[in-house]
Amino acid sequence: MKQQIINSKLPNIGTTIFTLMSSLAAEHGAINLGQGFPDFMMSEELIALVNRAMHKGNNQYVHMNGLPLLRQRIAEKVAGLYTANIDPDTAITVTPGGTYAIYTALTTILQPGDEVIVFEPAYDSYIPNIEINKAVPVLIPLVYPDYSIDWEMVKQKISKRTKAIIINSPHNPTGSVLSKNDMLQLQHIVKDTNIFIISDEVYEHLIFDGLLHESILRYPDLLERSFVCFSFGKTYHCTGWKLGYCIAPPTLMNEFRKVHQFNCFSCNSPMQFALANYLDQKDAYLQLGNFLQQKRDYFQQLMSQTKFIPLVSHGSYFQLYSYKNISEEKEKDFAIRLTKEYGVATIPTSAFYKNENENSVVRFCFAKREDTLYKAVERLIKL
Ligand code: PMP
Ligand code: GLN
Repeated sequence: MKQQIINSKLPNIGTTIFTLMSSLAAEHGAINLGQGFPDFMMSEELIALVNRAMHKGNNQYVHMNGLPLLRQRIAEKVAGLYTANIDPDTAITVTPGGTYAIYTALTTILQPGDEVIVFEPAYDSYIPNIEINKAVPVLIPLVYPDYSIDWEMVKQKISKRTKAIIINSPHNPTGSVLSKNDMLQLQHIVKDTNIFIISDEVYEHLIFDGLLHESILRYPDLLERSFVCFSFGKTYHCTGWKLGYCIAPPTLMNEFRKVHQFNCFSCNSPMQFALANYLDQKDAYLQLGNFLQQKRDYFQQLMSQTKFIPLVSHGSYFQLYSYKNISEEKEKDFAIRLTKEYGVATIPTSAFYKNENENSVVRFCFAKREDTLYKAVERLIKL
């Protein structure tokens, strides 16, 4: 049989590091502190609501923009949290996850040759999403060790071809958080330009140490040029549900929906019914920061018995640790050996950079049961 050859749109891309490390963890029976997902149970009540929706017959397509009641509840939520006045009919679209929302936003705005500013380390989908649209990522390193944004450098990197800037707070993989000053700097820089902003806010509630999530939704001058992306998976401990939403001004959302309608059309219905009936339970998301902060602190306290050196994490599921006192191996080699020989999977931070970047740092996911974290650290102490 003749072999059909594809002229690859992503010639330099392999399988994501999350899949690689989770497969390796399964193969070696390792404790998986790599890929970001909780190992504790989600709300039984929310599960029951899905069940009820299915039994009531809510199993057919809902509106392509998302179940109207769910969009209404999302609008009420963001009005309460961020004093944002968002129209559920024209400015909110329910998506199959946050990653899809980001991809759709980029595909909506990008033309070949456009430039997109990406801060590194960056969540691994951003750059392929840009490149598949024949646009060019312009990489700016976050400033070590607190992984802050150098706004002077941003000013220097902006060109006539800059189409968008991607921000992500709380940040994966570093756990850094943007401040009000960061948002004002961003606002100042993009003023009088046509630059769009893609704001990845999937960890909006996973924020610690009394910090406030500086959502784009708090800044009307930024929101007018933004696609703001969220994930129910992170908020309700159900990453496998792959459900999220995008908020953007109506004119931008109108174009976003043109891309969305012929890709996904409409997201799974029973979970939308369930979420619509659960979203008014504010405690479920308002207590999330405290809940995860306790896990970060517990993990950090356990890790103080090891040779790993913690970097600061103010949010997300993650904390970076330096292993420079343990090994001189490259991050990926170290992470693989840790999985195979010590039974603990992590993510090498180099996977969040387009080009070679080695700092002897790996990412741990602490969104796990205490006994999981305890057992993992028991193993790490041996290093
Ligand atoms: N952005 C970041 C930074 C993430 O860590 C994740 C988690 N996978 C997502 C977006 C998207 O999440 P999902 O597509 O699972 O909703
Ligand atoms: N967001 C998760 C992480 O960073 C995993 C997402 C994925 O597997 N694509 O670990």
